[in-house]
Amino acid sequence: MIQERINEVKALLPNDVTLVVVTKNHTVEEIWEAYNAGVRDFGENRVQELMSKVDKLPKDIRWHLIGSLQRNKVKYIAPFIHCVQSVDSLALYEEILRRAKLSNRSIDFLLEIHIAQENTKAGLPIEELEALIKTLLGREEDAPYMKLRGLMTMATNTDNREEIVSEFRKAKEIFDSLRGGIMAHHPEFDTLSMGMSDDWHLAVNEGSNMIRIGSYIMGARSY
Ligand SMILES: *Cc1c(COP(=O)(O)O)cnc(C)c1O
Repeated sequence: MIQERINEVKALLPNDVTLVVVTKNHTVEEIWEAYNAGVRDFGENRVQELMSKVDKLPKDIRWHLIGSLQRNKVKYIAPFIHCVQSVDSLALYEEILRRAKLSNRSIDFLLEIHIAQENTKAGLPIEELEALIKTLLGREEDAPYMKLRGLMTMATNTDNREEIVSEFRKAKEIFDSLRGGIMAHHPEFDTLSMGMSDDWHLAVNEGSNMIRIGSYIMGARSY
């Protein structure tokens, strides 16, 4: 079932869209199934759960941290994490930087922006985005350790497709204006991560190039 769903999603995805399979609340055995279907990008939203799985799975997996990340947990994931998709403050950035240096690694990250209507959703208010990026661009000495790859966002959890589409469209506009503006000389700023099980078709239509799919591929979560 997992493999069928992966093949189904991949067949519909344009070549330049990366599929991140979200495996929170799923077992190592289930993750192996997705791995054997060719998936190498996996997402988890809790550090503790990620740590319980990582040593039981192949080293060539690219792990993405997609949930809100407490600064005191960064040390556990810094030695291996591929991309932190949920950076939403300078303080979190600085802790990841500090730990990346200690591990002598380069860590990819995305800035998570808040576009959704709900005020419960995490992420940086878009009014603060450009100022934060300017601060980061001023710190060239960080470049060997921290690579800003793009933006991540989540749409409002609603059945209103027009609302979801307008949020994705807004994220794409922000992404494009950064790429044409202050990030113009940073070709590595190339990732717009948006779209989950219920809305990834809409997200890809609006220009997402990284989708994060959990339940549609892995099945209902066994809480
Ligand atoms: C759980 C989660 C997903 C995947 O959600 P599904 O609806 O199961 O596809 C994607 N992104 C984030 C940030 C998540 O926490």
